[in-house]
Amino acid sequence: MSTRKIAAIYSRVSTAAQSGPNKSSLDSQLAECLAEARRQGYEVPEHLQFQDVMSGRRDDRPDFLRLMAAGRRREFDCLFIWSVDRIGRTLRAAVNAVGDLKDVGITTYTVKEGDLNDTIRLGVLIAIAAREIERMGERTIPPKERQRAAGVFVNGQAPFGYRKRADKSLEKCPGEADVVRRIFRSCTTGGMGRTQIARSLNQDRVPPPEVKVVLPDGTTRRMRPALIEADGGVGAFTAWLEKNGARVDGIPEWQSRTVARVLDNSAACGWLWAAERKDKDGNPVPKRETVKLVIHGGPIVTESEFNDAAKAKETRREPGRRPGRRPVTPWLLVSKIVCGSCGKNYFHTDSKGVHYYVCHARKTGKLCKGPYLQMVKVDNEVKAAVKGFIENRIGGPAKIRELVMGQSLRDRRQLTQNIEEKEAELARAEMVWKEKQAILGRLDEMEVERASIPDLVADNDRARAERQRAASALSALMDQKSLLDTGVIVSGAELDKIVNRIEAGMRSMTATEAGEGQDSDVVFVVKALVDQVVVNPDRTLSIRLVDDPAAVARVFAEMLRSAVGDVRQVQAIGGRVPIPEM
Ligand SMILES: [Zn+2]
Repeated sequence: MSTRKIAAIYSRVSTAAQSGPNKSSLDSQLAECLAEARRQGYEVPEHLQFQDVMSGRRDDRPDFLRLMAAGRRREFDCLFIWSVDRIGRTLRAAVNAVGDLKDVGITTYTVKEGDLNDTIRLGVLIAIAAREIERMGERTIPPKERQRAAGVFVNGQAPFGYRKRADKSLEKCPGEADVVRRIFRSCTTGGMGRTQIARSLNQDRVPPPEVKVVLPDGTTRRMRPALIEADGGVGAFTAWLEKNGARVDGIPEWQSRTVARVLDNSAACGWLWAAERKDKDGNPVPKRETVKLVIHGGPIVTESEFNDAAKAKETRREPGRRPGRRPVTPWLLVSKIVCGSCGKNYFHTDSKGVHYYVCHARKTGKLCKGPYLQMVKVDNEVKAAVKGFIENRIGGPAKIRELVMGQSLRDRRQLTQNIEEKEAELARAEMVWKEKQAILGRLDEMEVERASIPDLVADNDRARAERQRAASALSALMDQKSLLDTGVIVSGAELDKIVNRIEAGMRSMTATEAGEGQDSDVVFVVKALVDQVVVNPDRTLSIRLVDDPAAVARVFAEMLRSAVGDVRQVQAIGGRVPIPEM
C-alpha cells in the first residue's frame, strides 16, 4: 500500500467578478487549501485541483462533477475546501456531497471549519427549511435592498425631521429637526411626559408633522408644512394652499401618540430599523439588521439621547395611563385552555393564594358549570403529556443526541428507507383493515348480530390497532426526518449545550410550579406543542397536541437558535462569511 497521501482541492466563486484578475478569491481559496493540505502532509496533483465559477446552487458545475467522479474512483484520500458553502450553496447539497465522499472513505476538510467528519455534525437538529428559505431570500438581494443596506433612504418620504437630497441621502429639515430636538430634550432633560410635550407644542402653535389638507374637489392629502417651508421658504405652505384653493382640515394638533411616534423613530439618531415584512406567500420575513442611514451633516439627536428618551419613556408612568409594557401573564395555558361545557376560554383566578383556571363565562357570572381547576395540577398534567409526546415522537434527548452526533448521513438514508418501509406497512395494514371492515359491513347488512361473531369483531379491532400502530410509527419517523432535514451544523460542544438544555427543560416539565417565567424553555415548548386543552365537565382534560412534524422540529430549532445564538458554522453555510481578500 502506498504511503503517499493524495488530496484534491475544490474552489468555487459564483460570479466572474469574484474571479477577476484583481486578486481573485478563487486563487486565494486555492492557495489556502494548498497550504493546509501540505501542512497536513498531503500531495495535491494539479489534475485534482478543481475550480468552478458558478452558483453553488447548480448541480451541473463541470468541475464539481469531475471532482465527485474522481472521488468515486477513490483517486484521493482527502478533499480540501475553503469553507463548506463552496461545495454546495444549499445545506442539502453540501451534506450529500460530503456524505457521498465519506461513503468511499474520503474525508472532507474545510480551512474555515475544520474536519467535516469530526467537528461538524451533518444532518442534525433543526433550523429547518425555513432557515434555508430565509437564506435563499438573502442571496438574491434586489438593487433597492442593496441601496437600503448601504443606508440610502429608498422607501418613500424622508422620516420626520429630515428631507431628501438629490442623491437620496438625508439631511436635517430645518423646521422639523428643531421640533424633533425639542421633543427629545423635553423628554430627557425636561422630564416631561408625552401628553405634557404635546400640550406644550400646541401652546406654542407648532404644527404637527402632518396636516390634512382638503382640495377644492373634496379630496384630501397629508402634507408636511415644515418640509414645504424648508424647501420653498417661509410662507411657502400658505402660498401653496392659496394657489390650489385648498384648506387645512380642522385645527391640526399634536397628540400624545404623535409625540410617542417621534420618540420611537430611531431615524432621529441615524438608524433605520427595518420593519417586519411578509414575502409573496404571506410568510413573515424576519426583521433585517438595523441600517445606519447616510445623513448629510449628521443625525438630529445622538444615540445616547435617543436611548435616554426610550428609558425615560419606559420608566415614567403617566397619570391615568398604564405603563407601556404589558405585565407578564403569570399562567401557562393562556388562550390554549377552553371550557368543554360552553366553549369559552378558561382564565386565571386565585383564591386564598391558590391559583385556579376558571371558565370565563362562569367567572363573569353566566350560566356555565365548567369546573374550577387547580392551576398546578392542570399545568403538570399538560407538561407530562408534552414530555411524553417528545419522548415518543422524537425519542427524547438521547435520540436527539444520537440523531445529531451519530452518523447522520447514514441515518438519513436509513431513515428514508425505513420511512418507505413503514409507508408500505401502513398501506398493507390499511388494506387488511378495510377488508375486515367490508366483511363486517356485509354481515351487518345481513343483520347478523355482532355478538354472535366475536372472532370477526376481534379481528377487525386487531386490524384497526395494527393500522394505528403503523401510522404512529410512521409519524415518529417523519418527525425524526424533519429534524434531520432541518440540518444545522453545530460543533460537539455547542450541541451538548443544546441537548443539556432540552434535557433540563424536560426534567423540570413535571416538577415546576405554575407561573414560571414566560421565557423559560418549558413554557416555550408547551406553547409550541399544545394545540388546545379542553376542560371536560367531569374535570378531566382533553389535551390536543400539534400533529405536524415540521412544528415539532421548529420547536427544537427555536431552542437551538436561542441556545447558540450565533453559531459560526451556520453563518458559513449561509455563505455570509466573506472570502478573505489577499
Ligand atoms: Zn364554560
